[in-house]
Order: sequence, then C-alpha cells, then structure tokens
Amino acid sequence: MRKYNFSAGPSVLSVEVLERVQSQLLDYEGTGMSVMEMSHRSKPYEAINNETEALIRELMGIPENYDVIFIQGGANLQFEAIPLNLAKNKKADYIVTGNWAEKALKEAKKFGDYVEAASSADKSYSYIPATSRKSFRDGIDYVHYCHNNTIFGTKFNYVPDTGNVPLVCDFSSSILSEVVDVSKYGVIYAGAQKNLGPAGVTVVIVRKDLQEQFAPLCPTMLKWKTQIDNKSLYNTPPCFATYVAMESMRWLKKLGGVKAMQKINEDKAALLYNFIDSTDFYTNPVNKADRSIMNIPFKSPSEELDEKFLKEATAAGLVTLKGHKVQGGMRASIYNAMPVEGVKALVEFMKKFELANK
Ligand SMILES: *Cc1c(COP(=O)(O)O)cnc(C)c1O
Repeated sequence: MRKYNFSAGPSVLSVEVLERVQSQLLDYEGTGMSVMEMSHRSKPYEAINNETEALIRELMGIPENYDVIFIQGGANLQFEAIPLNLAKNKKADYIVTGNWAEKALKEAKKFGDYVEAASSADKSYSYIPATSRKSFRDGIDYVHYCHNNTIFGTKFNYVPDTGNVPLVCDFSSSILSEVVDVSKYGVIYAGAQKNLGPAGVTVVIVRKDLQEQFAPLCPTMLKWKTQIDNKSLYNTPPCFATYVAMESMRWLKKLGGVKAMQKINEDKAALLYNFIDSTDFYTNPVNKADRSIMNIPFKSPSEELDEKFLKEATAAGLVTLKGHKVQGGMRASIYNAMPVEGVKALVEFMKKFELANK
C-alpha cells in the first residue's frame, strides 16, 4: 500500500506519473525498450529532451533570453559551478539563511572574495533577513540566496533588490511550487528530487548575457556554456530522471500549471499551520511572515513525545516525518505531489496524538 511520504528529498511523486512510467517501462512508445536502455542520441530521447525543456519554459514563463540545461551533479555541484561561471571579478555576496546557503558560500570562498552579506544565523535561521541594495558591496559578480530553506522551513517572500547585479538563486525545494518572475534572476538552479522529478537531474536556467564570464580554469563539465551549446547532450545525460521529470511536468500542466499548483500548495500549508497555531501542544519555530509552504518543521512538548509521535505516525502510514538532525522534532515536506488528503491525514493524526498525550 502507498504511504503518505513526507520526505524532504528525494520525495513523493504523483501516482499518476509513477503509473505512466510503469506502463512505459518495457516498451517506450513502440521502441521496444525502456528510456533507461535508449541512446541519448536517438530520436525518441531527443523528443524527451526537447519536450522537457519546452515544458519548463512554458510552466515557469522563462523568457527567450535564457537558456535551460538539464545536467547531473545536484545543487551541490552548482555551489562550485556558480563562482567559476560568473568569475569577472571573483567577488560576490551571499545571503545566508540556512545550511544550503552556507554550503554554497563555503564552496565559493575557495575561489576568491566571497562573503556573507546578510544572515539569520543569530536566531537559528528562523526568519528571513531584510536586505536592500546597501546590503551588497560594489563590484560584485552576483548575489546568491536560497529561495526556500528546506531544513529550517523558511521562504523568501521578496526578491532581493540588487540593482544591476545578477541574482543567483537555489530553488531546489520550491521550483514549480509557486509563480516566479524569472526575469528578475540571472541564474536559477534546482536539484530535481523535491518538486521536479526523481534524483539525478539538475536544472540550471542561465541568462544569455552571463554565459561568457567563466574563469579560464573552469572545468569543461562545470561550464554552463558546454551544456548550453550542446542542448544538455554534451555527455550522457541522466536520461531516465529527465524523462520522469518530463512526465511530472506534463502532470503539473494538466493540473492547471504553476498558478493552480501554488493555490493548492498554499491551501495545504494553511491546513497544517492553522492547526499548529490553534494548539499549544505543537510549535513551529519560524517567524510567521517567513514560513515555507513546502517544508514545515514542528515539535511536540518534549523530545520523548517527538519520538513517540514519529513511531506512531509511521505505524499509521505517515512516514519520513523526522526533522533534520540539526533541527530535531518533526518536519512535514509537502511538495507539489503530496496530495491534500495526505496533509489532512497528518492533521487528524496530530489531533489524536495530542488528545492522547496532553
Ligand atoms: C536538497 C537541497 C540541496 C541539495 O541538493 P543536491 O541535489 O542533493 O545537491 C541544495 N539546496 C536546497 C535548497 C535543497 O533543498
């Protein structure tokens, strides 16, 4: 039986997508083979590659002056790719709102003058710091931030104003979950395994005027231009993961696209937040205005009860609710593919658990 899987990543995929993939596993559209077994230079894979790009362009409204690539290495490899691809002055500013943003900065620091311009570490990353143009230095190549902080459950509800300085943003845990004005960004990147598809493929969206600023030593495989010039087919791409991402985006399009998805996501998050706020038994540590609609950390009154909660929730078919090790407690990740029924089942379980353990 399927369980409600609240994993932070890799995470839940829609049953409809999984069933479709299953139905095509032995014979993809009359080819007599699965996408896993197919040459990435074949016509059917070329069609998958093209449609995946077309879908993300349509769903996100990506303007013409951006290129999109689907590559390997995850968001973590992009932490190193970013300073090497945007290396005019080898100088950039980072907004640090959690572990991932911190890791991105740590990697960049190896290559030049990269500093923290703002941070919410003073309050355990429980809020999003305000920034203005004055927060950033002159002569920098970019400003980097993380849109949705998967571990701490915060989200930027504003786009930092950097003037003419390109914004580079990690959208790993929020891509396609809400409407985004891509034209405000220089580079957007995301590992697929939260909202886009299975692990193994990473999407990078790069404005055309930012594609020639790579450092001379930038490895060929890290250079965005390499994959852009080859339509993501410079080397063997993560074919199967890209194909499942395509099916996920077909599903999202059928559902009404990102705007419709955003409404569903906001409603799902409200169900959980409203319940948490209505009781003293559970607490969410995040500043209300900065709450994520994808990752919702919460705690019961004690660590012992947290443990009991996790054990009983698992037995009830509500799985992978354990909070990240730096946070403790619980965390419900309710990405696009988590049905509203899953969130309702979680709230019902939380109510019962509270009554039994108050
Ligand atoms: C999961 C996650 C990452 C790490 O992604 P990988 O693909 O495993 O490298 C980075 N940033 C954010 C915001 C994430 O949620």
